[in-house]
Amino acid sequence: MKKRLIFATGNAHKLNEVRNIKGLNFEISGLKDIGFAGEIPEDFDTLQENALQKARFIHDQYGTDCFADDTGLEIDALNGRPGVLSARYAGAECDPEKNIRKILRELEGVANRSARFRTVIALILENKIHFFEGVVEGEILKEKHGEDGFGYDPVFRPSGYSQTFAEMPLEEKNRISHRAQAMQKLIDFLKHYSG
Ligand code: IMP
Repeated sequence: MKKRLIFATGNAHKLNEVRNIKGLNFEISGLKDIGFAGEIPEDFDTLQENALQKARFIHDQYGTDCFADDTGLEIDALNGRPGVLSARYAGAECDPEKNIRKILRELEGVANRSARFRTVIALILENKIHFFEGVVEGEILKEKHGEDGFGYDPVFRPSGYSQTFAEMPLEEKNRISHRAQAMQKLIDFLKHYSG
């Protein structure tokens, strides 16, 4: 029988990505499937701690094996900001337009525009904690390009590519993205996990 594993996310798109993976000996459920509709706290200053806090919160409440992810955009000229604050950089309403405007303003006249997206996944499996990380390097453009994607995608161009994340086909973004890399590491681990 497949083991049950909760992905502590309310994001249906992220959940679908993992559920569609073949050959996993785990049945992956989301927060909606377990009837959780509240807010999970994210109180820390690092992606690791926040991802673990989210996984622990659900693990402690439901007693199930669980994983959670946390992502941040780290801009070198801003000393790694917005980092863990990426979703709410320009305010509590988490408005992506405002977030983009804020980083573009802060980078006005700045030559070094290097940045990276980093995703950390924390997994609690049979009471052991495991972390998986994915990083994609790139740069912040001076203006928005492209309509697709979400968050900071229109101003982030990955190194070695001519298009921003918002211009490239989703399949291409999903092949190289921070989240895809972290997820792939988690999946490789789960595929080889024998308990
Ligand atoms: P989360 O931890 O996945 O919720 O990501 C936190 C924030 O990082 C999001 O609200 C976005 O602002 C930003 N972010 C995460 N992943 C991406 C991405 O793939 N493209 C653009 N922005 C992203």
